[in-house]
Amino acid sequence: MFEFFFLFFLGMFLGNVYEYFLHKYVLHGLGKRKKSYFSSHWHIHHRTARKNNFADFSYKNIFSINSNAKRELKHIGILCVLNLPIYFLFPAVYFGLLFNAILYFTLHRYSHLNPEWGKKYLPWHYEHHMGKDQDKNWCVTSPITDRLVLFLERNIYNKLLSKKENK
Ligand SMILES: [Zn+2]
Ligand SMILES: [Zn+2]
Repeated sequence: MFEFFFLFFLGMFLGNVYEYFLHKYVLHGLGKRKKSYFSSHWHIHHRTARKNNFADFSYKNIFSINSNAKRELKHIGILCVLNLPIYFLFPAVYFGLLFNAILYFTLHRYSHLNPEWGKKYLPWHYEHHMGKDQDKNWCVTSPITDRLVLFLERNIYNKLLSKKENK
């Protein structure tokens, strides 16, 4: 039982790592170019949230054609299929990943439909849209990978760099 939960949380953590890297390098990295396939996150979702004090009601109807929610669901579905090999190796890890994907979609959508709730319970995502720098705070479900990357940068990367410079 302990092993199952350990692997389940590991899967959730893997999902958080995905949130960080896909958001940073795909949705912003590639998506800032207007012609990119991923442009809607930056050019539509960020613009809408910024204008409406974090609200984006295009997430309301999951089934309407071209709604942000439908697009997001489609991409999450593709990711879950691509990660299917994990299921055959470590099913508990896959279930954790799946759970995190559902959590991500539910929390992200709910926060943009209820901005006050979002500001209170997902302050890092509120900051991602409404703060000075919209290229920060990549995770949605929890800021764990953001904090881990900052910690590694401050404590390992920068120290290695200063050692090199001091030589
Ligand atoms: Zn973003
Ligand atoms: Zn958002």
